Amino acid sequence: MAASTDSKADLVVIGAGPGGYAAAFRAADLGREVILIDPGQTPGGVCLNTGCIPSKALLHVAALINEARGAATMGIDFAEPRVDLERLRSWKQDVVGGLTSGLAGLAGSRKVEHIVARARLSGPGALVLEGGDRDGETIAFDQAVLATGSSALVPESLATDDPRLMTSTEGLELADIPETLLVVGGGYIGLELGTVYATLGARVTVVEATSTLLPGVDTDLVRPLARRLDGLFEEILLDTSASLAGESAAGLDMALEGKEATGQRSFSKVLVAVGRQPNSAGLGLETTAVKTDEAGFVEVDSSRQTAEPAIYAIGDLAGSPMLAHKATHEGQVAAEAASGQTARFEPATVPAVVFTDPEIAWTGLTETEAKREGRDIKVARFPWVASGRAATLGGGDGLTKLIADAGTEEILGVGIVGRGAGDLISEGVLAVEMGAVARDLSMTVHPHPTLSETVMEAADVMLGRAISIHRPARTARKK
Ligand code: NAD
Repeated sequence: MAASTDSKADLVVIGAGPGGYAAAFRAADLGREVILIDPGQTPGGVCLNTGCIPSKALLHVAALINEARGAATMGIDFAEPRVDLERLRSWKQDVVGGLTSGLAGLAGSRKVEHIVARARLSGPGALVLEGGDRDGETIAFDQAVLATGSSALVPESLATDDPRLMTSTEGLELADIPETLLVVGGGYIGLELGTVYATLGARVTVVEATSTLLPGVDTDLVRPLARRLDGLFEEILLDTSASLAGESAAGLDMALEGKEATGQRSFSKVLVAVGRQPNSAGLGLETTAVKTDEAGFVEVDSSRQTAEPAIYAIGDLAGSPMLAHKATHEGQVAAEAASGQTARFEPATVPAVVFTDPEIAWTGLTETEAKREGRDIKVARFPWVASGRAATLGGGDGLTKLIADAGTEEILGVGIVGRGAGDLISEGVLAVEMGAVARDLSMTVHPHPTLSETVMEAADVMLGRAISIHRPARTARKK
């Protein structure tokens, strides 16, 4: 095969997102000669260039504005902010640019060759480059890691070339602040980007097909966010879906249908955030033994090896949850397994974070799942109204909850809603991963005054020994 190709590679990684670059860097550190191929001009994939990082930069700006507005209750009055969109966009790009050039530097220092092109497999050990300076060139490889990620799903009923209909990619470009914005989908992206646009002045309406925002997340965690968004958004329409009815100079005409709205309304812009699909089409998988499921996800084993022994697949392409941190870990596992090490991706839990204000984070078993599965569990809640640190930060709704096995009190899941929940959840992840019991969290001295104490105090609630709230466990009561 090498004879009919233009060059020969040891290990190729297709896709330079958080999964792909982690795989490439780990493999290079293990002594492999690595080629990293991605059509993006800068490494980092969707997460760094047009996803997690720019959205978190904009959400930080939104939090800053909301905090300044909230400061009036503390006796500090700020004027309403003047938003210079051009400078905001340029700051956001600087944040992204600094990180992507850091990645390019790391690739260079590891001698990972970065090719800017699309790669299509032409067999189990060969690929062809499409686009870029080396268009049409073929490369034979010993092994490959597929890390092509996912892209926004746009249902047929919403599809149009009109630029006023945006996915998260266009939404994050922040071309303007539309007067009115319809967000289709009340999931991660809809609520995060809806928060940014509403804070910057757009009148935001959300339509969500199910009966709750963030379907699947425990309702007591969603409630404080839903209350907050009720004030920030113009309308949240549950059990409602939207389709494109027409386009006019004034905006996009949307047909709303469902329990909370019916009929046609016009919006300056529409953001579609109804999920993502794996980028497995057009990758040449049919020229190999790699198998996909009916949703298009590549099937892999615990070491992320596909049905084609020389080919591994990781990240969004290889299944849910479609989260960057899962991809990064899988990338390292695939690189190690491909390099002859024993490596498996078998975490006890992968945490999830919605970076809204307040943030929601959870890990391990949720209460909803436990109920559905009929598990015998204990749930303990520590409301942040009893947290000294939360009070000094201006209060705000917050809740930390633990889900434990009813018999052993092993921590099976942790859920947090409130400021910084995305950072606080890591203690819960460690607890689940290490098989901690409630007593471990309770006996671990946490610094005061911090929000991290709420994890310890939730364990105290479970054990009936809470100090900051009075909720003795039944078993601790004297007869
Ligand atoms: P999502 O699955 O989080 O939410 C989609 C929502 O759209 C759901 O609530 C669904 O019920 C609703 N929906 C589906 N069809 C609809 C319709 N026709 N009309 C109205 N509502 C409809 O998907 P997303 O927000 O697009 O995000 C995609 C993925 O990206 C997520 O699953 C996540 O893995 C990832 N992501 C993660 C983060 C993060 O980690 N903070 C942020 C953004 C995206």
